[in-house]
Amino acid sequence: MLVRHVSWDLTADVVVIGYGGAGPVAAVTAAEHGAEVLVLEKQPKETHHTNTSMAGGSFITPLDAKSALEYAKALYRIGAEDISWTDDAVLRSFAEYAATGKDWIEARGGSVFLSPGPVDYLHLPGAATIPRHCFKGLGVGLARFLDDQVRAKGIPVLYEARATHLIANVRGRVIGIEARVRQDGQEQRLRIGASRGVVLASGGFEYDEQTKLQYLRVYPAYSTGTEANTGDGLRMAIEVGAQLWHMNCLSACMMFKFPDFPMAFSTDYPGRSQKRYARGEEAIPTVSGHIIVDRDGKRFTSENLNGRAAYYELPCFDTHRLIYPRVPSYMIFDRRRLENGPLASVTAGPTGPVRLYEWSADNSVELEKGWIKTANSVRDLARGIGVPPANLERTVRNFNRYCLQGNDPEFGRKPAELIPLDSRPYCAVALWPGTPATVGGPRRNSKGQIVSASGHPIPGLYGCGELGSIYGMLCPGPGGNLAQCFASGRIAGDSVMKERTRVRQ
Ligand SMILES: Cc1cc2nc3c(=O)[nH]c(=O)nc-3n(C[C@H](O)[C@H](O)[C@H](O)COP(=O)(O)OP(=O)(O)OC[C@H]3O[C@@H](n4cnc5c(N)ncnc54)[C@H](O)[C@@H]3O)c2cc1C
Repeated sequence: MLVRHVSWDLTADVVVIGYGGAGPVAAVTAAEHGAEVLVLEKQPKETHHTNTSMAGGSFITPLDAKSALEYAKALYRIGAEDISWTDDAVLRSFAEYAATGKDWIEARGGSVFLSPGPVDYLHLPGAATIPRHCFKGLGVGLARFLDDQVRAKGIPVLYEARATHLIANVRGRVIGIEARVRQDGQEQRLRIGASRGVVLASGGFEYDEQTKLQYLRVYPAYSTGTEANTGDGLRMAIEVGAQLWHMNCLSACMMFKFPDFPMAFSTDYPGRSQKRYARGEEAIPTVSGHIIVDRDGKRFTSENLNGRAAYYELPCFDTHRLIYPRVPSYMIFDRRRLENGPLASVTAGPTGPVRLYEWSADNSVELEKGWIKTANSVRDLARGIGVPPANLERTVRNFNRYCLQGNDPEFGRKPAELIPLDSRPYCAVALWPGTPATVGGPRRNSKGQIVSASGHPIPGLYGCGELGSIYGMLCPGPGGNLAQCFASGRIAGDSVMKERTRVRQ
């Protein structure tokens, strides 16, 4: 929205839109530089839940910026030498801030522990020096920590305040925002001036069906995160001419989704997460066994998945039948897995500590709901889920033979995961494309400034968090997104206060 004269209902130096992970970090950072900051959050305070509070709480903690940069460069460089999903200057500033992310948290009293498991793609240069840490109390603990920081700085947070448009002056500088604010049951339109700048931290577009349909590689794509992430920031940035990037990328998963619950569920294939997190131990070996098959009842990958890239296996369209044969796919298992704890993760998503859904410990409630299909034979199970029975029987027979041999000649499944499917009932749950976090959105430069179609910074406009994330096709695995929230929030908070121009209001 371009204006010549505007009268403001409220003003601040810095207006931050979105109170998840990156937003509070940016707000605190700007306030530490002396800014008067105002945060707008569209959800009501009482029911506020974000991707951040629903997260597992782990974040990567590179031991040094040099190897973090080396790793990030390798992750984003594709094919030809000079083509990368993300420019080096952006990766360099991320690496520098990410290497001090844990110190930033601990210096403010945050409590973290070393998390089991390294980053993904360990063969890439630099990966070996990137451990992960996890927030005590997981995502909920992290959200509480950030809220404490914001309150300690006296930064006001306006809840039920949905930013709708950015306001730019005739020179194209963003000078404020328009918002719909609900107070005492009434909604009113407010114009809020931002003399230093506006920081967009309103999360991704996980619940914007049109944007997902138009940009992602396969549809549908579901989410384990908050329904509040409807791509508002993306639309606001487009209105002022922002360039977009990473729109067809995701933190790319397969997940459970059922029609009678609005969010998807993170999978816990082997049934180990409760024990692992409760004891802070390395993941215990799979003890239950499962395979993943397509709609034809055939395996198509090693079930030892790169969990944040698995989605990319799914958009393989059958141009003769005009279907996506892998959408949905099915997790096929037997009594062993059924009896090995909840099928959904109890550490993240709606079944995590936010407890938007209480998944039963023995899966009995979800059996009753029909979310988990069972049968006493593989043939009947196949009929129940509508895959060709002879194919599924052959697939299970072959898999069980590989288990006896201790070798999976088709997909090279790890020997420890070769556990036969032979104890009734046989079970199936549909697996859908999905994500805990989209990564596409307005493109940023190394200072967190959102850039225009011509590549120049849009004055007064900053972005952070998963809205226009620095990540391209691959994410570093669990922990990449929160590390980016800390890094990009701090970058935006630092940069907005270095702005030389301050708009008079
Ligand atoms: C189940 C799950 C598990 C995850 N686990 C991990 C993990 O362990 N490690 C990791 O690194 N990453 C993890 N992630 C990803 C990570 O949590 C997110 O990428 C990150 O938290 C995003 O932070 P954010 O601040 O960008 O967005 P969010 O935390 O989603 O916050 C966005 C906020 O903006 C608000 N908002 C939206 N539109 C508007 C508007 N118009 N006006 C005002 N406010 C608005 C929303 O209500 C919300 O409060 C996980 C995600 C999920 C869903």
